[in-house]
Amino acid sequence: MDNRFKHETLKNNLVPGKVEIFVWRTLKRRITTRTELDDRGIDLDSVRCPLCDDGLETIDHALFLCKHSLNVWDRVYKWWGLGSVSNISINEACRGKSNISMSSIGCNLWQALEWVCVYLIWRNRNLKVFSNKSWNGPTAPMEIQLKSFEWVSTRAKKLKINWNQWLTDPIIYAV
Ligand SMILES: [Zn+2]
Repeated sequence: MDNRFKHETLKNNLVPGKVEIFVWRTLKRRITTRTELDDRGIDLDSVRCPLCDDGLETIDHALFLCKHSLNVWDRVYKWWGLGSVSNISINEACRGKSNISMSSIGCNLWQALEWVCVYLIWRNRNLKVFSNKSWNGPTAPMEIQLKSFEWVSTRAKKLKINWNQWLTDPIIYAV
């Protein structure tokens, strides 16, 4: 097992602490999806996914397998020039593995990006469930681009990340 997973927290210095904590809770399966709540004996009207209504809302479904989440991942992968997304899971996203060779700061950067995705996909899910805001799949990748830039560029000062470059060809910062 990777050293990072032996500790009680998970670290990536390019994202805020709240994102690290969220990813850690995800790994520990402490995210309150409908099936998790049901397992804890909480009575719910439905344990189906509130976004697609096409499957049980497990953690994997909510963050990766739901067609709406997968669409976001797919667009993020394309933005990074990584082709189509396949077999993404919590463990893979947490490790920041990619199908191309990256520098060590690049691996850190890609991992940070994946963590931002997981965090924002769940946040959007909650807005839909609790505030009845419509899930807006097409704008989610833009939100990810914006937030990741805001968080990462101020923390990875050495990379001198430029907004236009970040939008059009972010992989140059990672290889
Ligand atoms: Zn779904």
